[in-house]
Amino acid sequence: MAAEIIDGRALARAVRREVKARVSELAGRGVVPGLAVVLAGDDPASQIYVRSKAKMAARVGIAARTVRLPAEVSAGDLLAVVERLNADEAVHGILVQLPLPAGISPEDAGRILRAIDPAKDVDGLHPASLGALVAGEPGFVACTPSGCMRMLAAHGVPIEGKRAVVIGRSTIVGKPMALLLLAAHATVTVCHSRTADLKARVREADIVVAAVGRPQMVRGDWIKPGAAVIDVGINRTPEGTLVGDVHFAEVAAVAGHLTPVPGGVGPMTIASLLHNVSLAAAGRPGGAR
Ligand code: NDP
Repeated sequence: MAAEIIDGRALARAVRREVKARVSELAGRGVVPGLAVVLAGDDPASQIYVRSKAKMAARVGIAARTVRLPAEVSAGDLLAVVERLNADEAVHGILVQLPLPAGISPEDAGRILRAIDPAKDVDGLHPASLGALVAGEPGFVACTPSGCMRMLAAHGVPIEGKRAVVIGRSTIVGKPMALLLLAAHATVTVCHSRTADLKARVREADIVVAAVGRPQMVRGDWIKPGAAVIDVGINRTPEGTLVGDVHFAEVAAVAGHLTPVPGGVGPMTIASLLHNVSLAAAGRPGGAR
């Protein structure tokens, strides 16, 4: 069997077309959706992500601005920036690019994310947004997991009643991903670094989402034939190429559906962000799910 490849770039283009249509509608009401990205420090991967976010935002008519801060920025200064953006009516969405510099403690990072007005929390990482997801209430959903759900839907992958395994339990990807699959009526298992016999757990799954950060960890013989495999991982090899958490060639020979890296989840994450910004500008965070 050769897996159907889920083309994240093509799907992201389709999402951007929807967003563009909403942006034009908003323009008719005199509203220009605004996104502010706060980038502290000079992490090279973050610089690349922030540039692509700004570029894609511009393509759909979202006014994006990047607030660049030095790596030595204090938690107090970061909080002040967030407060200023909360009060700025031209800003509908605020994103604090993670990871924050090493000088910001995890507690302070939590305070900074909590300071974002939940109505502007287009990254879906505020505890109010995460709580809304748990409670099944309206709120912004983290961009990577919502992009993954769209990819499954676009290819008609059945979820209800299926067994799903999410590898990874981060707040950004693994946990919200598991909640979205649960809300779509999958039977969900969340695996992590202490999971016993990971391969056996993964082999039971009709849907596998790998969000680990370990290059090509998921091998072909881990996969149930015909399963849908979503590869969230982005890992740079010593040769400088990007690979996912899934061994693409081996898994493509067994799976029913597979997302590539690059060109899979990455573009959909950014498209979901733009979608969330357009909803924030329309005053509809509830439509985010
Ligand atoms: P984190 O490092 O926050 O989480 C990684 C998770 O993987 C943890 O829960 C960890 O378990 C688990 N894990 C680590 N080693 C193993 C192992 N050997 N077996 C099973 N589980 C393991 O990463 P993120 O969730 O932020 O990101 C995951 C990957 O996705 C990264 O490669 C990242 O670059 C990529 N990413 C891609 C995005 C995109 O747009 N495509 C967006 C966000 C992330 P434990 O909790 O026990 O430590």
